Amino acid sequence: MSDKIVFEGLNICREKMEDFTPPDLYWLSSEDCELDQSMDYCFECAEKQAKILTAELKAEVYVDGGYALDGNDTIALCEECGILLNYTLSASGVKSELDHYLKKNTKIDLNNEEECYSFIAILDCYNDYLSLNNRLLKLAKLILESK
Ligand SMILES: [Zn+2]
Repeated sequence: MSDKIVFEGLNICREKMEDFTPPDLYWLSSEDCELDQSMDYCFECAEKQAKILTAELKAEVYVDGGYALDGNDTIALCEECGILLNYTLSASGVKSELDHYLKKNTKIDLNNEEECYSFIAILDCYNDYLSLNNRLLKLAKLILESK
């Protein structure tokens, strides 16, 4: 029964998202100098930043990465343009997202593709972290009610 609710919630979000796919995640690397590799970028912004830093630091800075970020503690956004990036959530990531969405009066907006993507990232973790299942179920119910 509960599995079915989560499954339905996922389906609703997938339908709403239509063909929205978040871009993969990139970061900057250099053999010549220390860089903050915790900064996440979309490809376009990573390329721009690499050029700027290469000039500024007089070191060869290049674009690294190019895949979905696995087990992230927060949702992943491009540092420059703020676009949502391709990611999956860790247990603590799911927990903080649930804290946010299960707060009283938080609106579940299924017309926002990025929100739908976040819901999918959360609901996809059903059964991954068993202690969170009850709260995941609550979110799935809220999604069904907001349809
Ligand atoms: Zn960007």
